[in-house]
Amino acid sequence: MGLTEVGIPEESSVPMKHARILRGPYQMSFDITNKCNFRCLHCYNRSGENPVIERELTDDEVLEFANDLVSLKLFNLCFCGGEPLLRFELMCKVAQILSTSGSRVSFVSNGSLITEEVARKLLVHGVTAAQISLDGDNPISHERLRGVKGSFTKAVNAIRILKEVGFPKIDVAFCPTRWNIGEIENVFFLCKELRITRLRVQPLMPLGRGKENAEFIVPTPLQYRELVRKINYLKKEYSTSSDTTIEWGDPVDHLIRLPTILRHCSTLAEVKADGSIEVSPYLPITVGNIRRHKFSEYWSAGLVRVWEIPKLQELATRIVSVKDMGRNDKGVPTVWFDEDITIDIIDDNNFGGPNEKAKPVFRKESLLYEREEKESYLTIISKTHPEAKEVIINPTARKILELADGTRTIEEIETHFTNKYPEIYKEKIKADVLRALSSFTRLGVIDWEDENPFLYKYEEPLTGRYYLCIGQEDNLKDIESFIGFAEEPIKARKKLVLYKNPVITTDEYTKLKLRKKLFDFSEEFFLLRRDSGIEGLISIALPSHPKELGAVLKLIICPENFFKDLFKYSKDYFPYLAVRDVSKIKFYETNMERVNDTLKNFLLEEGFKKEGELKDELGFGKDLVIYSLGYTQEFIEKAKEARKEFI
Ligand code: SF4
Repeated sequence: MGLTEVGIPEESSVPMKHARILRGPYQMSFDITNKCNFRCLHCYNRSGENPVIERELTDDEVLEFANDLVSLKLFNLCFCGGEPLLRFELMCKVAQILSTSGSRVSFVSNGSLITEEVARKLLVHGVTAAQISLDGDNPISHERLRGVKGSFTKAVNAIRILKEVGFPKIDVAFCPTRWNIGEIENVFFLCKELRITRLRVQPLMPLGRGKENAEFIVPTPLQYRELVRKINYLKKEYSTSSDTTIEWGDPVDHLIRLPTILRHCSTLAEVKADGSIEVSPYLPITVGNIRRHKFSEYWSAGLVRVWEIPKLQELATRIVSVKDMGRNDKGVPTVWFDEDITIDIIDDNNFGGPNEKAKPVFRKESLLYEREEKESYLTIISKTHPEAKEVIINPTARKILELADGTRTIEEIETHFTNKYPEIYKEKIKADVLRALSSFTRLGVIDWEDENPFLYKYEEPLTGRYYLCIGQEDNLKDIESFIGFAEEPIKARKKLVLYKNPVITTDEYTKLKLRKKLFDFSEEFFLLRRDSGIEGLISIALPSHPKELGAVLKLIICPENFFKDLFKYSKDYFPYLAVRDVSKIKFYETNMERVNDTLKNFLLEEGFKKEGELKDELGFGKDLVIYSLGYTQEFIEKAKEARKEFI
């Protein structure tokens, strides 16, 4: 079963910038077993005979894993395999744990073990979606691939049973071969008759047994062309009139997306039957094992950004077509035949965290106020962030500050605590030390000998050498000269989106005032950078009155082609950064100086609504029209929570 076959979307809709706040992946596929009662000719992971079977997780280990997943609140867990129903009782227990905690649970199956009793029990335990394989419109085609007599009738019956007992979502996976590829239309009509939700088709993968048998099962390129033509026709013809959809999935797609545009935010996860964590079932590499550390710990250690690992990128870029999956490259293990390359993102390096060789320095002069409390607690107020008010530091965090004297690396500080508290789990201590250092950095009471290792959180790469980031105090000079550049009317030219809030005073961005804005975060600057220069900017100001909740769009100077990216980045990040709650962003226009149409249309498309009009607000007959865009309550709460972690 491949990624597309197991009901996992190939594309995450989660923006990369949210990686830092995700508490877990959205989708997980879990090979609950690699045992199988079939030996299909195309089985990509050689279920029933691959070496993983010897070291499968025990029932207790699986249950422990399931309980660990509860806190991550997955959107969906899919049982894959192998034939998952060979561990039916265990499957029910895991499903119960996850569905009770709000996750959706699905499974893939060859259908042979599904009876009415099994289907009802699955449903009772919270399994609500299934995918059954159907590789033809008749027993001969299907069973030639599956190798088991009667398996076609059983698969069709399984679908009927699942439907009858009330499974809300049933997909069918069809694997094209040289002999069944012409049956696609009939399979689609059969699916329609069975009231299937979706028919999923993807090319046969030349991996595992599919590789061994490739010569006589893989369709010819011409056959594939014909198949896609028919799928497109079926899609077009039945897209509105039918409840059954058909989908042609590209199994290579995720190997292009994940190492590139999603490398900072992969929200998918896969766990093999032996507990190995993998990033793609088609690559010979694992990045951890839940027998060594809990899955949640891998997530905290940076699994979301696992695709930043160069080795993964190197392996993925070898594959540009389905054919390449079966390629034997020197020095690269063959998937599902050889042992995988093993990296452990917790044990092998500090992937996902800051550079542990960085040396923090606590500077007393960064404190506006300090007071000794009872029991070795300390209260401080930071000079940089007085708005964070009194921060009470417990004795352990205080010790971290003491050890941060510029001579010790993060690693050495962690070692101090792991030696001191051998009974506490090492990873827990590491996570706590990093969290404390991150908070102190954000508060401005810790500096770094080299580059601030926590800064990566505030950047997001775009295409080319562009990236989006948040303006820091250090950027004062650059921001000032960039705004100055745009102030020159001659340079306010086409291909730039320019907007200046009409209530801005003329000297609002002098060096001193700009510094104040950056220093006290009263106005946040979001930058489009290329190499070291600024090429675009959007600024949003906090409401001036503490009881006001609407932030105001102040300045936009941005090349047209990057404007949308920069705007969305600013809008999404602002509530997380704002030192207090913000419920909306406002933008103003006057009846005398109207906002550029491109900009206004875009903002209206983004959801800004006219909030009101103030007559003669700016004198000389200048009316002020106010538009605003509200954040949902849910988003505000999320931002609030994230801010607590940050500061
Ligand atoms: S039923 Fe699925 S897991 Fe079992 S051998 Fe066939 S393809 Fe592999």
